[in-house]
Amino acid sequence: MSDIEDLYREIILDHYRSPRNAGELETPPATKAEGFNPLCGDEIVVYLILDDAGIITDLKVGGQGCSISQSSASMMSAAVKGKTVEHAREVMKTFKGLMSIAETGAELTEPTPDEIRKLGDLAALRGVVKFPTRIKCATLSWNTLDEALNEAQA
Ligand code: ZN
Repeated sequence: MSDIEDLYREIILDHYRSPRNAGELETPPATKAEGFNPLCGDEIVVYLILDDAGIITDLKVGGQGCSISQSSASMMSAAVKGKTVEHAREVMKTFKGLMSIAETGAELTEPTPDEIRKLGDLAALRGVVKFPTRIKCATLSWNTLDEALNEAQA
């Protein structure tokens, strides 16, 4: 195992053991969305508050499941809380792009340094693409966030 894989593993375990923004928010005012990955049994509940300026002013994540799903949810929360919906969707797109490369069986392309910088801790989940069945674990919280944002903007 390379040093970078060791580092990534540490980051994933850190988020799994100490999840950021774990908990619930009262609904309303918060919007709630639930996601389930039947392949692995992962559950994610996203609570968020969107202000009139399109900023995610508060966000909490609940649920249970494997280390990939829960650490990804923690990283997702840290990446989008306090940010605009536009920013959240941009990170979502980059992250899903990384995850879907292996899903289609195409050759894995190295993300640009700029993309890696923008993803922050989420880049640690890059190794998941080697395990296609785990990609749904890694993207579950993002799909749930997407659902919550759509509902909050409806
Ligand atoms: Zn899972």
